[in-house]
Amino acid sequence: MEKGINQFDQKHRNSWLIKKHLYLNSPISRVEIAHDLGLTTPVITGIVSNLLADHVVREVDEPDLVEAKGAGRRRVMLEFNPDRYYICGVDLSPYHTNYVLTDLQGHTLARRQTFRTLDEYSKTMEQLEQQIPDFWEECKIPRQKLLGVGIAMPGLINGSEGKIYTTFKEGWTQSDPAAGLEATLGTRVLLENNVRAKVICAEIFDRMVKSEPFLYFSISYGVAMQMIIDDKVLYGDSAAAGEIGHMVVQRDGPVCPTCGGRGCLEALAGERAVLNRCREAMEKNSGEHLWQLCSSPELLTMDQVLQAQADGDETVETMIQDALDYLGIALSNAVNLISPKAVVIDGRMFRLEKNQRYLLLAAERNMFRVHTNRIQFTFLPFDAYRGARAAAAVVVKDYLYNGIK
Ligand SMILES: [Zn+2]
Repeated sequence: MEKGINQFDQKHRNSWLIKKHLYLNSPISRVEIAHDLGLTTPVITGIVSNLLADHVVREVDEPDLVEAKGAGRRRVMLEFNPDRYYICGVDLSPYHTNYVLTDLQGHTLARRQTFRTLDEYSKTMEQLEQQIPDFWEECKIPRQKLLGVGIAMPGLINGSEGKIYTTFKEGWTQSDPAAGLEATLGTRVLLENNVRAKVICAEIFDRMVKSEPFLYFSISYGVAMQMIIDDKVLYGDSAAAGEIGHMVVQRDGPVCPTCGGRGCLEALAGERAVLNRCREAMEKNSGEHLWQLCSSPELLTMDQVLQAQADGDETVETMIQDALDYLGIALSNAVNLISPKAVVIDGRMFRLEKNQRYLLLAAERNMFRVHTNRIQFTFLPFDAYRGARAAAAVVVKDYLYNGIK
């Protein structure tokens, strides 16, 4: 998606700004768009007529104004037609592979949870080649209404090239699943890092990016932080920006299972680290309450760990507080570096309100005072399908940016 942003000519830039503004602020009039963006009405009209011709945008009345002004001239408003296109979003996560169908506005219309992502790349591709059309059939939407397929997964991923540099599965490195799937499925397929997809989802589908810099802190199996600065999602030179999970927070700390370094945030916090510590406790017979909730350490889930914490298990409480301390340090480091206006925090751990409070206290202890009470922190309700919906948002943003390919 970032590809080409530097060669952006003015026309393309205006087209992107107009489409995005219309999308995020529907219903809106041509005059309002021109006013908000400082562009002339003919420029708006040119772009809008193409969208109207494709039925992706439609004209609607503004009823309130008509009533308020009595016989006054009605103002024609423009809005995106959510049913013009539909998108299939796929989340290849370490837990499950999730599918969603969304409309153009990001409403989820169908969901499906399937197999756990397989170790073998070729087998996973086979599953996707079979399951994506299967899911689409089940949704009963005409083929010509499919805008594209978005795939989100953790790892160093170059979305514009569709290439995986590294991910949680060995042997997937340097593979190009988007190109292969595009050929088989006959539709546009876009690949993106899962947390970068979520920040795009917050921007496009959820209209959450009201002020910047905007940080999206995701604590799942791994830990990452993606951001929007100056209207751009940060990719960095090697599409590796945002890997806060590999920020060192403890000198000579435990080995990080993802990057091999020592004392990374992911080795000390995040769901994988918490689950590993709880499993060790079970094996040493100190996690008595965990044994009541789960028959074997290998089967232990994060939901059970959180249940044990909610039930007052002190061992689990200490482990989670430890993890939150490290997450708080990392968050304060990011705040001190970027000086954000808004931070969104997404993680199953924060289902428990006390974990939200504890994280913010840990972060505030280490932040520059200048940030106190200036940053808006928002905890998102946990949604197992957010990654799949986010993958769909990547396709919609690409459509707004590039049009139909
Ligand atoms: Zn690491």
